Amino acid sequence: MENDCLFCRIVAGEKPAEIVYRDETVVIFKDINPHAPVHLLIVPVKHIRSVNDLEESDRGIVDTMFFRARDMARRFGVDRSGYRLAVNVERGAGQVIFHLHLHLTGGWR
Ligand code: 5GP
Ligand code: ZN
Repeated sequence: MENDCLFCRIVAGEKPAEIVYRDETVVIFKDINPHAPVHLLIVPVKHIRSVNDLEESDRGIVDTMFFRARDMARRFGVDRSGYRLAVNVERGAGQVIFHLHLHLTGGWR
């Protein structure tokens, strides 16, 4: 846990968030500034700065992020209508929170 990391603080329960799922590997919560009717953030419990900082031993984490994203798409009813999974890597791509996360957006009409 990094004390100055917002997502570490949410994972640790020190900062409130609308958490919809949690296990030992990932925490999933609603984005505070949604860009779509459904906008979830799939966040690993482990602090990893970005995709650039993934280690081979993190394979299970990446795996879990995608499988739980699939499950949430189903739970939030966007699996058939369609959804987008996105990861911003570093500032030039729009990453503002430097703790790895997968955006799940969907639910457009
Ligand atoms: P990035 O641009 O780093 O890929 O995405 C960061 C996301 O985190 C943004 O979509 C932003 O709205 C969201 N976010 C920033 N601060 C908070 C917060 O305190 N709570 C929640 N739930 N989402 C946040
Ligand atoms: Zn962190």
